[in-house]
Amino acid sequence: MSSSRRPLKSLGQNFLVDRNVIDKIILAAEIHSDDAVLEIGPGRGALTGQLAERAGRVVLIEFDHALAAWHRNLFKDDERVTVIDGDVLKVDLEAVLSATSRKWKVVANLPYNISTEVLFRLIKVHDRLSRMTLMLQREVGDRLASAPDSPAYGVTTVLLGLWFDISREFVVPPGCFHPSPKVDSAVLTFSALSSPRADVGNEDIFKNIVKSAFSMRRKTLANCLKSAECTRETDLAELLKSCDIDGRRRGETLSLEEFARLSLWLSERTSS
Ligand code: SAM
Repeated sequence: MSSSRRPLKSLGQNFLVDRNVIDKIILAAEIHSDDAVLEIGPGRGALTGQLAERAGRVVLIEFDHALAAWHRNLFKDDERVTVIDGDVLKVDLEAVLSATSRKWKVVANLPYNISTEVLFRLIKVHDRLSRMTLMLQREVGDRLASAPDSPAYGVTTVLLGLWFDISREFVVPPGCFHPSPKVDSAVLTFSALSSPRADVGNEDIFKNIVKSAFSMRRKTLANCLKSAECTRETDLAELLKSCDIDGRRRGETLSLEEFARLSLWLSERTSS
C-alpha cells in the first residue's frame, strides 16, 4: 500500500492520525446522502472513507500520483467516487463542479503552503458551493474570522465574508498529525449565504478595491486607491465623499460594507 511511503514535506503532507479530530471534522461537514463532496488532498484517506460512506458523490483531487493511484484502486468499484490526479491550483474547478447542478460541500485538510491560494480559487467558484469545512494553519484561520483593523484582517477575510458565514469550530494541536507540524491548526466552517452580505455591484471591481486597499498596509486608503486599476478614471475625492469614507483612513480599517459602498458606486459609474 502506497500509504507506507514517507510523507512529502514539499506537498504539505501532515496526515491526520487522531480519530477524535477526524470524527469531529466529519460531523462539522454535515454530509448527507444526497450531497456532492469535493475533497482536496485526500492523502492517506483519513477523512475519505467516511465521506464516501455518507455522500452521494465524491470527487478527490490529489497531487501525489502514488496516493491518487491508491485511491483510484480503492474506489474502482464505486462509481460515486472520482479521483483526479492533479494540482488543485491548476484543475478547472468550474468544470469539475458543474458536473452536477447540486451545490458542493468542500472538505479539506489543506496543505499549508498553498492554503491561501486554494482559498482564492474557491472564492472564484463560490456560487457552486454550499459549505466548506477546512483545516488551516491556526493563524490563517484567525485571519478569516477576524474583525476590521485587527492585524489578522486581510483580503481573504473580506472576499470570503461576502459569500460565507465563517466560524472557527476547534483548534487542533500538532500532535494530531503525522508528522507533527510546528504550529497549531484550526478547523473552520464556511456556510454559503443565500445572497451576498452586501451589494457590491461588479464583483471584479470589489476584488480590485479590496486587494488595493490591503496592498500597502501603512498607506492611507486614498493613496492605495490611486494605484487601483478600477479607479483610474475616477475622481477619488468624489468617490470617497459620496461613500462617506475618510480617505485618510488605512485600507485595513474598512468594514466589508464600506468596501461594498465603494465598489457599488464605481460599478454604477462604470456601467453608465
Ligand atoms: N486529507 C489528508 C489528511 O487529513 O490526513 C491529507 C492532508 S495533507 C495536510 C495535504 C494533502 O494535500 C496531501 O495528501 C498532499 O499530497 C495533497 N496536496 C498537496 N498539494 C496539493 C495540490 N496542489 N493539489 C492537490 N493536492 C495536494
